[in-house]
Amino acid sequence: MSDLQDAAPRSAGEITSYHAHIYYDPATTRPEAERLRTWIGERFSVTLGRWHDVKVGPHDQAMYQVAFAKEVFAELVPWLMLNHGSLSILVHPNTTNPRRDHLADPLWIGQPLAVHGEKLPEETELEQASAPNTTPHLRP
Ligand code: ZN
Repeated sequence: MSDLQDAAPRSAGEITSYHAHIYYDPATTRPEAERLRTWIGERFSVTLGRWHDVKVGPHDQAMYQVAFAKEVFAELVPWLMLNHGSLSILVHPNTTNPRRDHLADPLWIGQPLAVHGEKLPEETELEQASAPNTTPHLRP
């Protein structure tokens, strides 16, 4: 009990930005992932990452990354909850501990998938959100 009593809560100030990893099956759900990507780009100021049709890093399925600033979270994440369709999405904070960010502290939209945290470091440089590469012109 003394450990619990001594612990102070972590500050949300640790979070510098967020990622949403949008998973799909190249054989069946890639068109759905393409449509969602188009919708996101039309509505949100984010950085759309490359398509990874094969597994990379800790990810257990094909996916692309959506990187976004803290200020975008409150609009984008609820929108993803309503529009993910059959796709699984991992939303995680970026702090100095990528393993904890992906394994212990994320949220899932849709069906949760395996994440191979052993492939992630427990210490890294803080990642600021990169410059958006979308030009939103529609309301979310
Ligand atoms: Zn990530």
